[in-house]
Amino acid sequence: MSVTERDVIVVGAGPAGAATAAALAQKGHGVLLLDRHQFPRDKTCGDAVPAGAIELLWRLGMHEKVEKAVERGELYPVEGMLLVSPRGHELHAKFNHGAQGADSYVAPRIYFDALIQEHAVASGAEFCQAQAKAPIVENGKVVGVQVQGNGRVQEMRARLVIGADGVTSAIARNLRPKNEQHVDGHRAVALRAYIEDIEEFPREVEFYLYKDILPGYAWIFPVGKNKANIGLGMRLDHFRQKKYNLEKMLQDFLAMPAIKKRLLRGGQLRDVATWQLNFGSQKHLQHVFDGAILVGDAAGFINPLTGGGIHNSLVSADLAAQVADEALKANDVSRNKMQVYEQLCHEHMWESMRNSFWMQRTFMHFPILVDFLVKRMKENSQLAKTFLTKL
Ligand SMILES: Cc1cc2nc3c(=O)[nH]c(=O)nc-3n(C[C@H](O)[C@H](O)[C@H](O)COP(=O)(O)OP(=O)(O)OC[C@H]3O[C@@H](n4cnc5c(N)ncnc54)[C@H](O)[C@@H]3O)c2cc1C
Repeated sequence: MSVTERDVIVVGAGPAGAATAAALAQKGHGVLLLDRHQFPRDKTCGDAVPAGAIELLWRLGMHEKVEKAVERGELYPVEGMLLVSPRGHELHAKFNHGAQGADSYVAPRIYFDALIQEHAVASGAEFCQAQAKAPIVENGKVVGVQVQGNGRVQEMRARLVIGADGVTSAIARNLRPKNEQHVDGHRAVALRAYIEDIEEFPREVEFYLYKDILPGYAWIFPVGKNKANIGLGMRLDHFRQKKYNLEKMLQDFLAMPAIKKRLLRGGQLRDVATWQLNFGSQKHLQHVFDGAILVGDAAGFINPLTGGGIHNSLVSADLAAQVADEALKANDVSRNKMQVYEQLCHEHMWESMRNSFWMQRTFMHFPILVDFLVKRMKENSQLAKTFLTKL
């Protein structure tokens, strides 16, 4: 067993971990970025990346990299959305550009995540493929990570550990008390596939709300000519209660007349995969520990209505990097010093989590209310705009 020491170990090189690693490396800290996979790698996702997320990448110095990825066709620009209600009311709404003019995209994660991971390395972080087994805790303080890679177990020590290892985070699971794990009412399960023979609605992401799927939804997000990311998801407690089969539900969705008529060769699916989501609507979760901070899905920052988590992962990465930088400079990585991160996350995300959770609980169980809401928004574009900005 060998021992190495760094300023920071970031566990998980998805958007949250890679962005935190890039920001801390740019501030001059010695960063080791770990992931159990080599990059590029797939991540089960709808791939919808809002403009605000793109602007956070710009802040990390990725403007040109993003532009080049768009030119290569890896990021597909989208301009608006279509929302279809149970009775077939259709609401088309244009997306706002970001505050600095960025577009929104559908960006298959195999490209999107590799772009940020590469940027972290270009910013000075060292990347290592290894699986974190658990944080090393001494005298109540996290002092490193026990990892497995190349068939051996190693202890890697650091002044600070960032847990960015997603929904199944080994770091969060070991540090948070049992009563702070996410409960099924604040979790979801979703299935995603790619389809390459669908007549897509160019530049528009589509959401379908219908009786058998509420309080969840099905989506079609275009990634290129006749290609789309397609999937569906729902709250986990509901899913367990109804004993749903997601693959069958996706087949039923494809068999709906409005969808079936758009399939050019019968609807061949590839890369069908299921994964979980942890909502940011569950209260009283600790994200900061002596010697460790949780970011992204490891902390649980997914919007409970839309299922979007990439933007919040990057928001939390930005906030964590600011707080970690100050703590490392002050040579104080105690919970006491870094607790401000929890307040900052609350200020940046809580209102939208609360509104979205309320919407999900109030409307999404009742097809008739969803119909009413979509119809009202269709008649009143200001209402639609207000609704979208509240999410
Ligand atoms: C089906 C589905 C659809 C979704 N659609 C959207 C969408 O369209 N838009 C959106 O914004 N959000 C969407 N989300 C949510 C989004 O995918 C997540 O919020 C986002 O990926 C969070 O980023 P992250 O970096 O925190 O975690 P992840 O992207 O999960 O990255 C975690 C990384 O940690 C690594 N890792 C895990 N465990 C270990 C370990 N023990 N040791 C080392 N490495 C480890 C993994 O390999 C991975 O690379 C969706 C989620 C699902 C499941």
